Amino acid sequence: MRDKILKILENYDYDEISIGTLGSHSALNILRGAKDEGFRTICVCRSREKIIYESFGVADEIIEISDYSDLLDQRLQQKLREKNVIMIPHGSFNAYIGRLDEIMLPLFGNRELMLWEIDREKQREWLERAGLKMPKRFERPEDIDRLVIVKYPGAMGGKGYFLATSPEDFYSKARRIIETGVIREEDIVKAEIQEYIVGANVYFSFFYSPLLDRVELIAVDRRYEPVDGLGRIPADVQIEAGLYPTYTIIGNFPVVLRESLLAKVLKAGESVVKVSKEIAYPGMVGPFCLEAVFDDDAEMIVFEISARIVAGTNVGIPNSPYSYILWGENMYMGRRIAREIRMGIERGRLEELIY
Ligand code: AMP
Ligand code: AMP
Repeated sequence: MRDKILKILENYDYDEISIGTLGSHSALNILRGAKDEGFRTICVCRSREKIIYESFGVADEIIEISDYSDLLDQRLQQKLREKNVIMIPHGSFNAYIGRLDEIMLPLFGNRELMLWEIDREKQREWLERAGLKMPKRFERPEDIDRLVIVKYPGAMGGKGYFLATSPEDFYSKARRIIETGVIREEDIVKAEIQEYIVGANVYFSFFYSPLLDRVELIAVDRRYEPVDGLGRIPADVQIEAGLYPTYTIIGNFPVVLRESLLAKVLKAGESVVKVSKEIAYPGMVGPFCLEAVFDDDAEMIVFEISARIVAGTNVGIPNSPYSYILWGENMYMGRRIAREIRMGIERGRLEELIY
């Protein structure tokens, strides 16, 4: 597969490279970054979201589609190849398309690692091989003996997640949530039942540069979810009113970490990159994110990895404290991606960044 993609890249005019992405998730971040680095930009978006990309003016060209899966259309791909497009994949590529092997366009990053991300078993293997501490996983609902969170595969943005404390509690909540139509029965069967870690949630967005051979911490965020509103209501009223926490992502806040904790964070980023080179050649390229909770002892427990740009990096435009300290200029994930592509072109090493 990679050979075919590199063949496509070979036919590109390197002086006329455009950067493209699907209009959603972190497209504004990606397109602004590409423009800041002097690239022409293309946004492939659905008509209903077109207003966003028109309004901010970061796309030199907008190509309208009716559904995200239209990106798999051969004619559209041909049109994009003629424009020398390098596509930047983000969460919607996982959540709404999935069939990455049908995208015959150069993608920035490593699409094989994106498949490791989607598969919870593989994801766990990757993180455990990197020596990271993860929440305990329960194979069957019958084994639940503590507070757990029930999650689904793919980038569903927390939709339909629920908490349970026992097997009975699991089944009654699962039934209720299927009845509401938020998730389907087969989602529950494939769900991951994870120990719920009580603590402070922090998401770390790194960039691994194959050209500079270094791991950079670009932005740190936490999420804003409906569950955050529950704390405004006293516990007895929550019980009386039958309120339940929901985790559908609404937004993100920037975070600055207690500095002494950065040592374990940076080591975690490096070991994840090291293992990535063993599991999926050529290993990590570009953005990735570790989602962690710090417990009462400030221990870092990692519950998820994303092998691409995450939307939490949007808090870091035009810079985060970390990207500014590192670069001494405005630097954010979209721009960092474009900078690497620019350096790849200049140094004749673009193919190392593409899969
Ligand atoms: P959207 O274009 O908003 O539908 O998002 C595309 C996919 O990315 C969906 O699966 C969302 O749940 C996920 N997503 C969007 N924004 C965020 C965010 N800030 N944090 C985590 N996931 C997100
Ligand atoms: P995710 O889809 O894995 O990014 O998780 C979405 C939401 O669930 C976030 O608010 C996380 O903080 C929360 N969450 C996921 N897994 C855990 C866990 N094992 N312990 C505590 N919170 C979690």
